[in-house]
Amino acid sequence: MAEIIIKDVRKQFDDFVAVRESSFTVDDGDFFMLLGPSGCGKTTTLRMIAGLELPTSGQIFLDGEEISQRPPSQRDIAFVFQMFALYPHMNVRKNISYPLVSQGMRRADVRKKVSEVAGILGIEDLLDQPVGGLSGGDRQRVALGRAIVREPKAFMMDEPLGALDAEFREHMSLELRALHDRMGATTVYVTHDQLEAMQMGDKIVVMNNAVVEQFGTPREIYDMPASLFVADFIGSPSMNFLDFDGAVEAGSSVASLGGVEAAIPEMRESASGKLVLGVRPEHLRLSDSGTLRGEVLATEYLGTTQILTIQTPQGELKARVASDQVVQIGEVTGLDIESHTVTLFERDSGRALRSALNEGVLSRG
Ligand code: ATP
Repeated sequence: MAEIIIKDVRKQFDDFVAVRESSFTVDDGDFFMLLGPSGCGKTTTLRMIAGLELPTSGQIFLDGEEISQRPPSQRDIAFVFQMFALYPHMNVRKNISYPLVSQGMRRADVRKKVSEVAGILGIEDLLDQPVGGLSGGDRQRVALGRAIVREPKAFMMDEPLGALDAEFREHMSLELRALHDRMGATTVYVTHDQLEAMQMGDKIVVMNNAVVEQFGTPREIYDMPASLFVADFIGSPSMNFLDFDGAVEAGSSVASLGGVEAAIPEMRESASGKLVLGVRPEHLRLSDSGTLRGEVLATEYLGTTQILTIQTPQGELKARVASDQVVQIGEVTGLDIESHTVTLFERDSGRALRSALNEGVLSRG
């Protein structure tokens, strides 16, 4: 069991900054996701926690003890790679036993531990098989078994399901999450897949360009994005952004969008200049007397819902509505915004403005 604290951690490779002053806390027992686009610094962050890279500055704590400069062998953290390399000449039992045998554990104890771990993973019947003929999922289970058997304080997983096809990946992600719930071991998991992060994580750190953009629960990240980047990266289709030049006042619940007055959550700070109103597709409602009006350009049927593309004078919007609503391409419709769900951003900095919606989350930093 382990709590991991990352404090102002920076990693530089010569002049290149891969991770810039990052801070977040992984609570004991969390399934914790590091999410962001390729090259944003996720793997480097994970490798620093495991000790495979040392931070240029900043501190890492494991259960209250500083481990920033310790070698991996003194951290009690297991690393599960995407390209899990099993020993091809050994059978499943020997692959899983290996870390214990190399620690010098007694044979009988090794056998017992390996049986326990195989039971947790549901691979008891594979123990005496060679690893060569195993399916991708079983190979992944053996790799996990080899990590679990050591009973480390925490697991670091770098896109462990990345090599699997989509259907199997979903199955394995559920299995991994269930395994975590049974074992309760702190896990930090790198992914660039926002859906995977939302489905599996207790908490998510969203990184971009070497910087932590936001850190919170999936619900906080989705409903209360701290930046335009997070708002755009999470959700499919992504949030609608309406640009306007204007001003909003602390205490006010109205924004003027190019002549249209839109209700917004009560603001907790004032701002002026280039602003952006962000609204998720499912928070737009078709209505005869809508705040916005526009022409339906396209409809995309998704079963229970449909996605409408609507051209308004304020920009092109996506609305997610029930699929039984009858909508014709070319029709002009009104749109209401569910005002309490709206986030306002500063265009230039990308920062979300504080309002009654997100104040608690943003003030936590
Ligand atoms: P991906 O999913 O593509 O691996 P990532 O978010 O995990 O992306 P990192 O692997 O952490 O990104 O890499 C962040 C940046 O640091 C990249 O531009 C990468 O090229 C650079 N980088 C990583 N390791 C080194 C290294 N040893 N030397 C120089 N640059 C490095």
